[in-house]
Amino acid sequence: MKHSFKIKTHSQTELLDITGEVECIVKESRLEEGICALFSPHTTSGITINENADPSVKADIVQGLNKLIPMHGHYAHAEGNSAAHIKTSLIGSSEIIPINGGALSLGTWQGIFLCEFDGPRTREVQVQLWGSP
Ligand code: ZN
Repeated sequence: MKHSFKIKTHSQTELLDITGEVECIVKESRLEEGICALFSPHTTSGITINENADPSVKADIVQGLNKLIPMHGHYAHAEGNSAAHIKTSLIGSSEIIPINGGALSLGTWQGIFLCEFDGPRTREVQVQLWGSP
């Protein structure tokens, strides 16, 4: 079962919590046990799982990535967004989450984030579900 949804980003670099959108799709699928695969079909946005209880965690992730990979440097890519490409490869374009008892098997403090590195833009998140009802 393939699903997807669009999400509007508002800054050049930000983490957007998409846990609710993904949970809705899983619930509507009526799968009891299975796998949820998330995929970002973009070269400058990724997907990660981390704490969504304290918003300062996502701010620290953004700050840490910006420190590790400066926006401006001696990059070869003429488009000027090499930092965004590098961050996307570090974070990755996908996540896989088990579905148990009809719900995502996330830990208490875990949330799913779309990571925008070259916004603002409209991004697509693809959701592929496998399993049994
Ligand atoms: Zn580029």
